[in-house]
Amino acid sequence: MSTTAEHTTTLSVVVPMYNEEAVIPIMAERLRKVLDGLDVSYEVVAVDDGSTDATAAVLVGLRRYWPQLRVIRLRRNGGHQAALTAGLHRSVGDYVVSIDADLQDPPELIKDMLDMARSQNLDIVYGVRNDRSTDTMFKRWTAVGYYRMMRGIAGNRMPHNAGDFRLLSRVTVDALRALPEQQPVYRLLVPWLGFPSGTVEYSRERRAVGVTKYPLTKMVRLAADSVTSFSAAPLRIATWLGLAGFAVCIGLVVWVLVAYFAGVTVPGWASLSVVLLFLGAVQLLCLGLLGEYVGRIFAASQGRPMFFIAYDSSEEVVVPAFEDDPVSAGQSR
Ligand code: UDP
Ligand code: MG
Repeated sequence: MSTTAEHTTTLSVVVPMYNEEAVIPIMAERLRKVLDGLDVSYEVVAVDDGSTDATAAVLVGLRRYWPQLRVIRLRRNGGHQAALTAGLHRSVGDYVVSIDADLQDPPELIKDMLDMARSQNLDIVYGVRNDRSTDTMFKRWTAVGYYRMMRGIAGNRMPHNAGDFRLLSRVTVDALRALPEQQPVYRLLVPWLGFPSGTVEYSRERRAVGVTKYPLTKMVRLAADSVTSFSAAPLRIATWLGLAGFAVCIGLVVWVLVAYFAGVTVPGWASLSVVLLFLGAVQLLCLGLLGEYVGRIFAASQGRPMFFIAYDSSEEVVVPAFEDDPVSAGQSR
């Protein structure tokens, strides 16, 4: 990016996008206005997370008018965190901002984040949502539950209501890249690093266009990844349930003996069924919990990449065409 002898600060803005064709033009216009007004040279790393709509085409079209726009296309949809990972791994700036494509995070805040990071020498500046009144009731309630749980697990280092809109220094990005996480959840990993950090507040706006790309299944997966990547506490539930079950059993044995000696021999079908079902459910629950962790170990031992790059506009090389070779004629990599 900067080729001058004197080093100017460089900024990368990573934008994960999944089926965002409608919002891209508005997003690009607003973002560009902000970035062109900064005293840094920048790149915008748009990560197309295997979209099935015209996202890729819209991005490539925009590139003609916006040279700082860099397009990375993933071969398949890997999810928000995978797209973020691809963007973080490939970005080159001294500072890297990650921001959603749907304008729920105001791009204007990037200037404040950068100013704060530079003036106070911070490694991380979190965007903190102080107002979610435009989110749906369901989103707000699940968010309250999620952030409360996460603070319980990751400790109070995690700022309240900080999502994936944040600025990271190069050192921080490199530290994240060096982590061997297979299912990284950055909103937990970044606070875990504990590098010098600050926060800027903003009110969460309504999604500019389209519908959420985070259906319940993806939300549950994020929550499961968040918990299992940071705490083994759920495994202890098994121990507690086992102890509780043991206590109940002792009570039942006493009851059975008393009934036996008192000569009250009721058939007892219902109580037996209940006990059996209860124990069966507890065992399945504990097995499921173990499975979650074993699954993570399994995934980690396989070490499969989270994403596959199909195209990176910064690596674009035009191959000269040979006139008598119809296969390579007009092809570019
Ligand atoms: N996103 C992505 N891959 C996915 C789902 C979402 O890259 O599989 C992107 C999406 O395009 C957006 C960001 O992640 O830029 C946040 O998604 P969204 O706004 O739909 O989530 P919400 O704000 O509703 O939680
Ligand atoms: Mg959104």
